[in-house]
Amino acid sequence: MTTLENNTQPTKAQNQKALFNKLLLPTSTAGSLPKPAWLAQPKTLWSPWKLQDDELITGKQDALCLSLQNQQQANIDIVSDGEQTRQHFVTTFIEHLNGVDFEQRKTVRIRDRYDASVPTVVGPVSRQKSVFVEDAKFLRQQTNQPIKWALPGPMTMIDTLYDDHYKSREKLAWEFAKILNQEAKELEAVGVDIIQFDEPAFNVFFDEVNDWGIACLERAIEGLKCETAVHICYGYGIKANTDWKKSLGTEWRQYENVFPKLQQSNIDIISLECQNSHVPMELIELLRGKKIMLGAIDVATDIIETPEEVANTLRKALKYVDADKLYPCTNCGMAPLSRQVATAKLEALSAGASIVRQELSKKHFKERASVF
Ligand SMILES: [Zn+2]
Repeated sequence: MTTLENNTQPTKAQNQKALFNKLLLPTSTAGSLPKPAWLAQPKTLWSPWKLQDDELITGKQDALCLSLQNQQQANIDIVSDGEQTRQHFVTTFIEHLNGVDFEQRKTVRIRDRYDASVPTVVGPVSRQKSVFVEDAKFLRQQTNQPIKWALPGPMTMIDTLYDDHYKSREKLAWEFAKILNQEAKELEAVGVDIIQFDEPAFNVFFDEVNDWGIACLERAIEGLKCETAVHICYGYGIKANTDWKKSLGTEWRQYENVFPKLQQSNIDIISLECQNSHVPMELIELLRGKKIMLGAIDVATDIIETPEEVANTLRKALKYVDADKLYPCTNCGMAPLSRQVATAKLEALSAGASIVRQELSKKHFKERASVF
């Protein structure tokens, strides 16, 4: 057959290398991406919509397409909706539930860090109909790439409310877990590949996480066949969070409190904040066996990482994560950043992952060559 071989065709070895590279270090984002200025005020959390009624519905879909295109142009492998259809990662979900009164507001301390006026739980919580399923279906229609969908985690949900009904954080979290499970099953049915639960509260309430927080998360993923992830970060790059981070000292060991139990859990992927953070990388060893979505992009600064900086963070993590389980990602959502900065950061993430992929590929094929 050699004589018939076309020189322009890739060789078997080249094909193997391409396949090897394709499977390794798939990139993704933690969740939210900036919205276009015609849809919502840029760099603002909870920004009111600038459109109404039918125009808002179409506007959200257009923004989703734009966000997807940005991710694709930046070579992001696992794409998302960039949370273009929601005002906030927790409140938008809660707005769709029964039992929560948004008129009755109380001031509570969120994540033990800052005060906010929040809605009140006034009766049994339930979900009348799906919240994000139509949006997920729409995203699925736009791409054949793997898609990830973010939902708030039960503990982070209860931490954003005043409870005047259950009077028990655990009971309310359990009810939310059941509701999230209904939503997650519907998201899976329309073709979502990874369902992620955002649990920044896991970085604060360690005893509760171990007592019932992880159990609630496992209730939320019960019966799912798609991949599941939990995102645990130090929060968006807003002042309350950056001030808190400054108070944490030179070594951030918060993760150490929850990793052992998470390692034992049914969750497939753990999403972490590692770029410019003071988290000792060796803590990830406590999660050995899990897939790690590793934050290699800092969302609390406009400074764009160089690809080499991203690569360095990934290389450090590879001491504690098997290469086939490392998923380069952003530290957190990028909603508060400008679109220009967010896009440049996505490009840096891809370029950094690409550097390490090449290195792993070289190492892999060198090792194979020495065996045969
Ligand atoms: Zn986050």
